[in-house]
Amino acid sequence: MIKILANDGLHPAGLRLLQQAGYQVDLERVPQEKLPEVLPDYDVIIVRSATKVREDLIARCPRLKIIARAGVGLDNIDVAFAERQGIAVVNTPGASAVSVAELAFGHMFALARYLHLSNRLMPAEGRTNFKALKKQFSSGMELRGRTLGVIGFGKIGLEVVRMGLALGMNVLAVDLRVEEVQVDLRIYDTNNVSLSVQVCTLPFEEVIRQADFISLHVPAQGNGKALIGKEEIAKMKEGVILINTARGGLIDEEALLDALNSGKVRGAGLDVFEGEPRPKQELLEHPRVSVSPHIGASTGEAQANIGQMLAEQIIKRLAGVS
Ligand code: NAD
Repeated sequence: MIKILANDGLHPAGLRLLQQAGYQVDLERVPQEKLPEVLPDYDVIIVRSATKVREDLIARCPRLKIIARAGVGLDNIDVAFAERQGIAVVNTPGASAVSVAELAFGHMFALARYLHLSNRLMPAEGRTNFKALKKQFSSGMELRGRTLGVIGFGKIGLEVVRMGLALGMNVLAVDLRVEEVQVDLRIYDTNNVSLSVQVCTLPFEEVIRQADFISLHVPAQGNGKALIGKEEIAKMKEGVILINTARGGLIDEEALLDALNSGKVRGAGLDVFEGEPRPKQELLEHPRVSVSPHIGASTGEAQANIGQMLAEQIIKRLAGVS
């Protein structure tokens, strides 16, 4: 019987499909140091980002056929080594795209209306200092009509572009590979109302100079250099709002703190940080920063999509190899 270890959990939607296919799925978490003893009994391991599947572990598991990552990034798996051993590595690109895009807008709306700060101050001062807080948060802004720079026009970037267009923003996209995309705007629950907009990408410099909001949707850059540092920030508009729901390190955090302190950057929405899981305290408590603890894909919908997409790939591949 095929045995699957879902070491970092699996959504019931995926679990059901695997069990219906007749596989044994074990959900009990095996500590990392015990995996070399336990994993050799399994055909498949499913992980999120917590479990590391490194070369030395893979080498001890000749029965292993698939390493499945519930999510996108494969930093915790030695992919090239696994593939050389004939083990397939699968992941779920796109499954959380809408959730991450909505979180990016959550931060944009929060910063545009000071909700992040209002939520911090109102519980303590709302009864005694209401009028002063009302004044403090009185210079909000609308998103409609503003220019949104979307850096990275892949799966998540596309959803951000779609949402920005639907809100009436002037959306400018940047990508190293993508030149143009026909973006369909979906009107809820209607079959016959649709709108399709052609979006062409523009040079990075042009977009960062023009944008009121800049949202990052690229992978970690291999060269270790931040995509947005002091030089790039200097080229941006006074009072720009920056959003990073992609990867910590894409924005140089020291340069960002300087720009937040000077007011050059009006606000930053951060879901990801350098040095996770211990982000800089100065960023966490900065009054111009809206923060969340890397929860881009943490919705019921995204997790169900991820579980289902993984299960379908595992079933298909096992049908081919077993
Ligand atoms: P994707 O591969 O579909 O798209 C990334 C795009 O970025 C590609 O089109 C690529 O050509 C482009 N790109 C790469 N480097 C670039 C550069 N320097 N300049 C311009 N374009 C560049 O990826 P995706 O699924 O859209 O994911 C985007 C990011 O979101 C990734 O970093 C991913 O790890 C992150 N992510 C975060 C969460 C979260 O929980 N916050 C969840 C899922 C994904």
